[in-house]
Amino acid sequence: MSRKIFDFLAKELTNLESQKLYKHERIIESPQGAEITVKGQKVLNFCANNYLGLSSHPVLIEAAHQGIDHRGFGLSSVRFICGTQDRHKLLEKKIAEFVGLEDAILFSSCFDANGAVFEPLFTEEDAIITDALNHASIIDGIRLAKAQRWIYKHNDMRDVEEEDASTGKMAKGLERCLKEANAAGIRFKVIATDGVFSMDGDIANLKAICDLADKYDALVMVDDSHATGFIGKTGRGTHEYNDVMGRIDIITTTFGKALGGASGGAVISRKEVVEWLRNKGRPYLFSNTVAPAVVEATIQAIDLLTSTTELRDKLENNTRIFRKALTDAGFDILPGEHPITPIMFRKYENSSKVAVDFADKLLENGIYVIAFSFPVVPKGKDRIRVQLSAAHELEHIDKAINAFIKVGKEMNLI
Ligand SMILES: *Cc1c(COP(=O)(O)O)cnc(C)c1O
Repeated sequence: MSRKIFDFLAKELTNLESQKLYKHERIIESPQGAEITVKGQKVLNFCANNYLGLSSHPVLIEAAHQGIDHRGFGLSSVRFICGTQDRHKLLEKKIAEFVGLEDAILFSSCFDANGAVFEPLFTEEDAIITDALNHASIIDGIRLAKAQRWIYKHNDMRDVEEEDASTGKMAKGLERCLKEANAAGIRFKVIATDGVFSMDGDIANLKAICDLADKYDALVMVDDSHATGFIGKTGRGTHEYNDVMGRIDIITTTFGKALGGASGGAVISRKEVVEWLRNKGRPYLFSNTVAPAVVEATIQAIDLLTSTTELRDKLENNTRIFRKALTDAGFDILPGEHPITPIMFRKYENSSKVAVDFADKLLENGIYVIAFSFPVVPKGKDRIRVQLSAAHELEHIDKAINAFIKVGKEMNLI
């Protein structure tokens, strides 16, 4: 038996630790919510994807119980053998209607949805044109496809190729990529983008992307994991926000964030695309079906969000209050409207230490947030990424604002 790799890994892990890159996990001893228990201490959680407060919502918990009572715990099968219940079909119909497309296909996660969507649709003859800051699962999904690849500079719609000041490398805008793909005699083209980019909380310019897609005969694929359920007036997603409902060809999303936060995801598209993926999508054909409890609770989540915009409205209001208070207090906040609120430390030379110390001090003050440093974000762009939730009451938000101001003053940052 060879042992070389274990020694190698032990050394590499020590290296990670010494470079402060080791990912330590904090242990939570309570359900997910506005208030959680960490090491026996009650703290307010400001870093979950629990955007609508549905993770431990009584309506969803009851639905999950119903799912188990009426359809069992597990199905022990992939969908096409004996893993499709009536409720899976209903959930597919509901999520398709909710985002405004014809049909949907479920996956165990959005990571799997993105892993499934490109490879069966796009071959050597085709092109995938992708935003440089797309989520890891989009990048991996594209890697699985044999299609040709063009990467455009984040959110850059222009017909240019120029040196990117932040990397020193040449970078292209989206229109330049589309022109090059046309010149290369490509059969099908698809533009792939996150709806919301999770580090900065910025929303893709889908209006410009759809206009270019029309001009150059390309499809548009959007991953709306950080949007489905709450972005746009009725929470349908970034296509509603950007006023391009009906112009997006493929949407992928997760049930693991706003829609209850358990697990599961979907590809939502035209009938032909969904039918093709049911026949060809490898994470669909070779991985287990979504569990009945998750299916039932997600159906309830969608029904709830279809019947009222109360939760997304509350989240919007919470976000506005928090962003304004911290901006007024003198913090360096990336502007925007998304509940992802990045508090930047780029003014300080030792910005990663400042960000980490700040997060530690906030925890001492009962506020749980996480500092992000290189390589998760570019060097010098260290930050604390706050995420607001509809689970937060105004008193929670006030407590967080006061703690930020208190620690900011103690550390001479404001
Ligand atoms: C969270 C996230 C995913 C992964 O979703 P899971 O269902 O947890 O696998 C995929 N894409 C984006 C953009 C995400 O933010």
